[in-house]
Amino acid sequence: MITAVMPTYARAPLSFVKGEGSWLLDDQGRRYLDIGGGIAVNALGHAHPELVKTLKTQAENLWHTSNLYQIPNQQELADKLVANTFADTVFFTNSGTEAMEAAVKMARKYFSHIGQPERYKMIAFTDSFHGRTLGMISAAGAPKLTNGFGPMLPGFSQVPLHDLDAVKAAIDDETAAIIIEPVQGEGGILPVEDSFMRDLRTLCDENGLLLIMDEIQCGIGRTGKLFAHEWSGALPDIMAVAKGIGGGFPLGACLATEKAAAGMTAGSHGTTYGGNPMACAVGRKVMDIIAKDDFLAGVSEKSGLFRQALEGLVASHPDVFELVRGAGLMLGIKCKVPNMNVVNAGYDAGVLTVPGGDNVIRLLPPLNISNDDIKEAVARLDQAATAIEAKQ
Ligand SMILES: *Cc1c(COP(=O)(O)O)cnc(C)c1O
Repeated sequence: MITAVMPTYARAPLSFVKGEGSWLLDDQGRRYLDIGGGIAVNALGHAHPELVKTLKTQAENLWHTSNLYQIPNQQELADKLVANTFADTVFFTNSGTEAMEAAVKMARKYFSHIGQPERYKMIAFTDSFHGRTLGMISAAGAPKLTNGFGPMLPGFSQVPLHDLDAVKAAIDDETAAIIIEPVQGEGGILPVEDSFMRDLRTLCDENGLLLIMDEIQCGIGRTGKLFAHEWSGALPDIMAVAKGIGGGFPLGACLATEKAAAGMTAGSHGTTYGGNPMACAVGRKVMDIIAKDDFLAGVSEKSGLFRQALEGLVASHPDVFELVRGAGLMLGIKCKVPNMNVVNAGYDAGVLTVPGGDNVIRLLPPLNISNDDIKEAVARLDQAATAIEAKQ
């Protein structure tokens, strides 16, 4: 008999009742160090006092009014995002995939607006992930996402990452945009080379294409800059953000230049909940804390410490681990044993990680994790690896 909750997830038999900072408490009274961060969502850890206070205050005043009216929290969050990024304007959503849908719709609308409606095609990359709507599984194109859900939305193609010739070959008179995650997340924590990001920017400029970046996982301070593309210097025309921006409250955003958003006029796009007062109150506070040079420098510092310790971990378990890669506090360990074995051994050792593509375990801790918790996480991963070796 089918379960009351539709069985679309392979859930671990863990049930958490409370969180504090980088730690979770389960219903058996056991503590776990949460290095998965709810898949890069809990950017400031669990129950951050300032976020709790912000949400409580907002909850006592106003939950929802709809986008029929002015929403000052939305206005202020938009101002903050515009002030801190390439963007001139922001559309708010509830999730990442909706932010990407807005990005793709905006790009199509742009070409319609400038009198080239025949340009609707978009080039994405192999092993990318943009969410689970029909549009975004069409964009990513992997059979594991699309199987049984056809026909797909037409116009998307996928080429291998770092293959500029393949990108060039995929461009034709109907191409509108290129879509890229500056650090592939679900694909297995794969940072895109800075030179490739710049090459894509140049290619877009030469061909009049829009460059759409998906920073849903790698954005909001995760790599030690507010947005990952800043490392390369290549700017997007449109960018999707979600996960960390809400710190655990559902919130997404699609940022754009004035030019790219030229077709987005009243009535062209919308959402009931997107940018509601609760989500934007939290998002504003998250931005207040993260979008600061000293906070971002702290992410890079912690990254250095974590990475060095992980290199040591990998070196001392050569039969379990292959290598460490990633950027900032978006780290991946490629495994030699099935990655789920490591994730499961981590549960036994009281540390939570997230499986990813290419047999990687993902480490996406809170950006304010303490140095002690980083050391504790590595000790627990060491314990997990030792348990796996004992069984081999
Ligand atoms: C998580 C993720 C999405 C989808 O976000 P949802 O909030 O689950 O819709 C899209 N792109 C990337 C890169 C992601 O990591």
